[in-house]
Amino acid sequence: MSMNIAIDGPSAAGKSTIAKLLAKQLHYAHLDTGAMYRCAAYAAITQGLNLEDEAALQAMLTHLDIHFDEDGAVYINGEDVSKQIRTNDISMAASKVSAYPSVRAALVAKQRCIAANKGYILDGRDIGTVVLPDAEIKIYMVASVEARSQRRYQEYLDKGMDITYEEIYHDIEKRDYQDSHRKASPLKKADDALEIDTSDMSIEQVIQYIMAHIETVQKASVKQA
Ligand code: C5P
Repeated sequence: MSMNIAIDGPSAAGKSTIAKLLAKQLHYAHLDTGAMYRCAAYAAITQGLNLEDEAALQAMLTHLDIHFDEDGAVYINGEDVSKQIRTNDISMAASKVSAYPSVRAALVAKQRCIAANKGYILDGRDIGTVVLPDAEIKIYMVASVEARSQRRYQEYLDKGMDITYEEIYHDIEKRDYQDSHRKASPLKKADDALEIDTSDMSIEQVIQYIMAHIETVQKASVKQA
């Protein structure tokens, strides 16, 4: 049975890491929707746009070609921006531009188009609630702010980036607030999503847990058919 899988949750809960590994295991494609909001923010900043100007952002998006290759590298109009979009400043800017309904509408349309043929794992904030409300599997991944900050801090250290744990903690809390309090598609668990708190779980444990859930859902749907 070909399905779509939605993985939502707050920043740095491990959604993309898990989505990538699951995609490999299931031979599904992975779409990191956060990367698309990051691209919107990055393009706006490099073009010198005012991040408060929703109309300018909307117009810019009509010329923005966001493309992913098979290894997950991200391109804007043919330029590889995979590294540039992963800075803390772009995280904060993405959270800002993602609050505009017209920015969301443009990117959600692209996401639905990509996932139309099923066999996709999408991770983000609104996949199970707005982008793919009919996704066969919905996961809502959470973790304590401490666990998420520690993971992100380690990731930045490994990349040689200059940032303190306290800055990351503060920015994650701020993004959590912004993402869950905006009017347009706020971060929220879908009623039919399976919630997993990954604070004290290893990556392997999370994968096993989700694979067991997928098996249960698949068996139930075969019985129903
Ligand atoms: O997932 P990631 O941290 O890369 O996302 C960057 C930002 O993009 C988030 O803080 C959030 O504001 C926004 N986002 C969103 N909806 C999604 C994915 C990401 O609003 N589906």
